[in-house]
Amino acid sequence: MKAALLTGVENFELREVPDPQPPRGGLTVKVETCAICGTDVKMYKYGYSAAKLPLIPGHELAGTIAQVGEGIQGYREGERVVIAPNIPCGTCFYCERGMQTSCDRLQTIGVHRDGGFAQYVMIPLQAVKQRCVIPILKGVSFEEAALIDPASCAINACELSRVKVGDVVVVIGAGPVGCLNVEVCRAFGAQKIILVQRSLPRLKQAEFTGANVYISPLREDVVERVMQETERRGADVVIVACGSGEAQQQALEIVAKRGNVNLFGGLPKDSPFIKFNSNLIHYKEAFVIGTHGCSTRQCKIALDMIVSGKIKAKEYVSYRLGLSDFLQAIKLAEERKGLKIFVNPNL
Ligand SMILES: [Zn+2]
Ligand SMILES: [Zn+2]
Repeated sequence: MKAALLTGVENFELREVPDPQPPRGGLTVKVETCAICGTDVKMYKYGYSAAKLPLIPGHELAGTIAQVGEGIQGYREGERVVIAPNIPCGTCFYCERGMQTSCDRLQTIGVHRDGGFAQYVMIPLQAVKQRCVIPILKGVSFEEAALIDPASCAINACELSRVKVGDVVVVIGAGPVGCLNVEVCRAFGAQKIILVQRSLPRLKQAEFTGANVYISPLREDVVERVMQETERRGADVVIVACGSGEAQQQALEIVAKRGNVNLFGGLPKDSPFIKFNSNLIHYKEAFVIGTHGCSTRQCKIALDMIVSGKIKAKEYVSYRLGLSDFLQAIKLAEERKGLKIFVNPNL
């Protein structure tokens, strides 16, 4: 089969590799689409400690079951499925307490093992056992379904940031995960959602999310406008959906008393330190948390939200490229062109 193989930092090869075989209790999936994630861009540009190269990256994938392994029940060849890419061990301290994102032995497809930028991907027994193979209803496209990974990360963010009915939420960053956070916050009952993004075209592109207020620091002072919009109270929840230390500091200024700040976007690994006024946290009794990743349960909720239209998945499909254009796909994501870039290995 054809595969995009990451062989080193900023090095990839389009190669012919042997088709994966379904293991006992596992299966193989013919990949119909696999979206580029920020993690793929990071892996390509800087490498990734968890990823042993050479590796086929790609974890936001959907396709049809090609072969089912011996002893597998409940799945059939030709079935349309989407993969929840994080495979929890199910037995560690964190898994036992329902904290799959913290699993000590988490295996992510496209990070710890070969992923979806290939014509076929092998799904191991443990993934089947943990219900990571999720059937797609008729009427939902592969691309829409493949959005479950970033969408469920937004669900994890809203759950842990305790977004609730009536809240005012500020989302900083209008990239794909910022837009998903807006849509998910709305579904969680947020009453007023304020989206902050420097680039004006990117802010305009995000209007489909139905946020109530759109702010660009190029046009106005972010802190002052948020205060105006919240009767000078600040926001109940601030989700920083971009990798900016400056935005993280600003979040502490615009959060309300007893409010929650979520550091959703990670900072570049060579500059993870920020300087902030800790008295803001002290006197506001504010909560600062971080979230990353998602659980299988949240992936299923994400798919339901896509089916019901609470997440307008079609709006995220900006580019559709073939496997031979993998490098171009990475570049488009890196240059923040559009929202999501989808690679179809059969094109
Ligand atoms: Zn992802
Ligand atoms: Zn575990």
